[in-house]
Amino acid sequence: MSASDGPGGNLGREYVRIYEVGPRDGLQNEARPVPTVEKRRFIELLVAAGLREIEATSFVALRAVPQLADADALLPLLPRRRGVRYPVLVPNLRGLERAASAGADAIAVFTAATDAFAEHNIGMRVDASLETFATVLERAGGLGWWRRGYVSTAFGCPYTGRVEPERAVRVAERLLDLGVDEVCFGDTVGVAVPSHVRALLARATAAGIPMERVALHFHDTRGTAVANVVAGLDAGVRCFDASTGGTGGCPYAPGAAGNLATEDLVYLLDGLGFGHGVDLPRLLDAARFIAAVLGRPLSSKVGQAGGWDPQTGQPVGRGSEG
Ligand code: MG
Repeated sequence: MSASDGPGGNLGREYVRIYEVGPRDGLQNEARPVPTVEKRRFIELLVAAGLREIEATSFVALRAVPQLADADALLPLLPRRRGVRYPVLVPNLRGLERAASAGADAIAVFTAATDAFAEHNIGMRVDASLETFATVLERAGGLGWWRRGYVSTAFGCPYTGRVEPERAVRVAERLLDLGVDEVCFGDTVGVAVPSHVRALLARATAAGIPMERVALHFHDTRGTAVANVVAGLDAGVRCFDASTGGTGGCPYAPGAAGNLATEDLVYLLDGLGFGHGVDLPRLLDAARFIAAVLGRPLSSKVGQAGGWDPQTGQPVGRGSEG
C-alpha cells in the first residue's frame, strides 16, 4: 500500500500515533517563558483534543533550559487518564530521580547522529552520551517505564552538513541495544526531503530495525515536513512527532518554522484515511490557546486556513462554529 493512495481498499483503517512535542520541544524553543498554570491548561486542551502521548517537559539542569525549569512542579499537575502518557526528557540519573519524584513513568533520552551536534547540545560526544544513558535506561527499565531514544541531526547537522543514513542508523541500533522501546529520528535543522527519508528507513530496515519501533520528528523549516511524513508512512512508520500550534522555532534559522504543526499532520492523516484519535476543531482550540499565550499568530497552514469539510466544502475549526 502507498500512503499517498490512502489506506482504502480492504486494508481497513490503519492507526497512526501522534506524539505531541509542543509542551517540551515547542515551548523550549520559544523566547517567551510560559507560566506553569498556562502549560497545564495547554496540556489539558491537548488531552481533550484526543492526544494520548504528550512529551510534557524536561528534567535537564534548571539553568540549561529556563523555559522548562518548572518541570518538578508541572508534572504532578497534569490530568492522569488511562491511556495517556507524558514522557519527559531525562539527561542523566539525577534527572531520572527528579522525574521519578514528580511521578513520571515514561522518559526520552536525547543524543545525535553527529558528535559536533551532541557536544554543542548536550555537552558530550555521542559515545559518552550513550554511556550515560545506559544506566538511565537500565534504571527506567527496572521501574517498568516506557523509554524513547532520540537521534537528532539524523539528516543534517548545522556544524558538519549532510548526515548519511548509516551514521544515524548506527546510533539508533545502539539505543535499541540499550533497551529503548522506540527510536526517533529527528530532522533538527529541517533539511530532509522524501528521498533522504526513504534512504534512512531502508537502511534501518536492512539493519533489522522494525518500523513499529521507529518514530520520525520533522521540522517544517523548508516546507518539506508533510512530504517527509508521507515518505515515512509509505515505508511503514506509524508514529510521528508534531507540535500543536507549530510552536518551537528553528534555533539554527532565526525566524523560520520549526516543528511540524500537529494540526497540519492531523489534516494530512484525515485526508489519507488514517485513524489517529485527534479531533481537529478541538486541537485548533489548543493551538489558538498557546498562540495567544505566546502572543503571536498561528504559524501552521491549517491554523490559518482551518480544516476542510469534504461534504460541505467549508472550512472547519475556525473557532466560530464551536
Ligand atoms: Mg523539534
